[in-house]
Amino acid sequence: MAKMNKGQIGVTTENIFPVIKQFLYSDHEIFLRELVANAVDASQKMKALAASGDFKGELGTIDVHVELDEKKKTLKIIDRGIGMTEEEVDKYINQIAFSSAGEFLEKYKDQIGSIIGHFGLGFYSAFMVSEKVTIETLSWKEGAKAVKWSCDGSPEYEMGACDKTDRGTVITLYLDKDSEEYAEKGRIEGLLNKYCKFMPVPVVFGDKTINTLEPIWSKAPSELKEEDYMKFYRELYPMKEEPLFYIHLNVDYPFNLTGVLYFPKIKERMAIEKHNIQLYCNQMFVTDHVDNIVPDFLTLLHGVIDSPDIPLNVSRSYLQSDANVKKISTYITKKVSDRLEEIFKEQRETFEQKWDNLKLFIEYGMLSDEKFCERALNFALFKNTDGKYFSFEDYRKAIETEQTDKEKKVVYLYATDVEAQYPFIEAAKNKGYDVLLMDCELDAHFVNLLEQKLKDARFARVDSDAVDNLIVKEEKVKLEMAEDERYDLENLFKAVLPAGNDYYVTGDNLGEDAAPILITRNEFMRRYREMSALGGGMNFYGELPEAFNITVNMQNPLVAKVMAAKQEGVAPQAPLPAEAPSDASDAEKQQAREAREAVRKAHRADVEAFAKDNEILHQITDLALLANGLLKGKALADFIARSQKVVTDAYLK
Ligand code: ADP
Repeated sequence: MAKMNKGQIGVTTENIFPVIKQFLYSDHEIFLRELVANAVDASQKMKALAASGDFKGELGTIDVHVELDEKKKTLKIIDRGIGMTEEEVDKYINQIAFSSAGEFLEKYKDQIGSIIGHFGLGFYSAFMVSEKVTIETLSWKEGAKAVKWSCDGSPEYEMGACDKTDRGTVITLYLDKDSEEYAEKGRIEGLLNKYCKFMPVPVVFGDKTINTLEPIWSKAPSELKEEDYMKFYRELYPMKEEPLFYIHLNVDYPFNLTGVLYFPKIKERMAIEKHNIQLYCNQMFVTDHVDNIVPDFLTLLHGVIDSPDIPLNVSRSYLQSDANVKKISTYITKKVSDRLEEIFKEQRETFEQKWDNLKLFIEYGMLSDEKFCERALNFALFKNTDGKYFSFEDYRKAIETEQTDKEKKVVYLYATDVEAQYPFIEAAKNKGYDVLLMDCELDAHFVNLLEQKLKDARFARVDSDAVDNLIVKEEKVKLEMAEDERYDLENLFKAVLPAGNDYYVTGDNLGEDAAPILITRNEFMRRYREMSALGGGMNFYGELPEAFNITVNMQNPLVAKVMAAKQEGVAPQAPLPAEAPSDASDAEKQQAREAREAVRKAHRADVEAFAKDNEILHQITDLALLANGLLKGKALADFIARSQKVVTDAYLK
């Protein structure tokens, strides 16, 4: 063997190898990507030299071979690229790579960079898994001599001549004890599939070529058919359902970006998976965490983005403020809305068919991204309880005449559960109203957003009030009720309604044939509760008891009968003692207040005692609760027993 020169690698840190191993522990496997990427680079440069005529010799087959010796525990990466002269090895391997690695590690010690290839540390990542690494290389340049470089993990290397006769580079890794997992065929194949699947030069392992040289995103959209996109999707995600739509990204100014994104079917929030977009840099896999590169809602998409313009060597917070990344993010958002609008306009039927699976994605986008929201107002759809779809504009036109209230607001009625809210939906339809279906998890938030975005719009759930009060078109005369009578009414019903909730009891004239009691939920209280349950940061409302409006139909004969019985069976409230005069002492005032309260309390006790024994009152209240799915437990059992008796009395006596 030729005489070897010894030297010290230009390092600023005393001994860099322990640092490499320690700091980059979690990313050990990327060494293979780094070495294959270098080999691919050198191969492409060689092809370019031949194409330009600078190199006139025999080019031969340009590919990269990965060879594993499971017994010797060595891994070789072999290319037929440009190779390196002795000066180049000195310059690129001994000096530059190392000093910049040192600087990098100094700077990012705390953030353990996930991507090291772009710091010129690429080659040295080999030491994460090796006790010794050698380079044998012969440059393409005329008269170049083959060089062998070898280093055992100390900052000392050896360099000298060798007898390599064919152009290119062989990197040999002598895997260390802790890294024997990489001496397994399956592991290496897995890594090559993960990182090198789309590299632009053939990567051969054993007798198999790992990669697709021209992945779909590197081609012009005009060359491709729908089925090519679907085929590629299956290649990327063999276990997944067909996507809804795809988008081909292709831009070269002011930044370079290609890619294909797919809309997956999303049915519920629980099923949402992130990390399905793969980021490539010139067909080299970088990561599937694109969180800081695309807006959050777009991380629900699947597919591939390839851009050499995304800086990979910086911290996350820097990434978000990077001008290129911002432009890329805006561009992708715009492309996504363009594509959706195009499908909405040109394939309306398909769009409607796929809407249910697309809805969550679009609502999430509208809620989280202002720009996307503005665009989506043009193509988002409403679905009504009859299963018909409308654009926002068409829907407004359809309901405007019937559903505008006296404040000139268009009232959008909606149901969240067709089964549970059936009677309310029917009542609204009978009145000539249309009812939307808003059964998506984000709809509580979404409804709020729409009230801000749609002009003069208000949303009301069908069960938020009696149908006549949902859209108030002219001021209705309120039912006049004496104060004492209203108190009695409230106390009567509160005595028989389940404890733990808040009830607002009012009397109204809803007609003789209408139900005796209507239970509704205040729109806003309910919405706030739902939003806080979703994590809207309004916990105060989440802790409130549920609030219900109890509207008692005073014209209903059963109600009339209860009221008459109460009139008869409960002694009228004793006259209230006078209030204390304004110049009375605080103690006197307090005493007077307590005296009045005592009278009210005594009367309330009478009313409650009456209520507890009144079978009609129990029965009509329980029926209303039952209709709203609110009758449970002992109350339900009591109701069934009571009804049994009522039915027996009616049929058998
Ligand atoms: P980077 O690839 O980011 O420049 P590396 O440490 O991986 O950093 O490599 C440093 C340099 O060494 C490369 O830029 C290239 O000039 C040279 N090099 C590495 N591997 C090869 C190879 N297989 N063939 C030719 N040159 C190589």
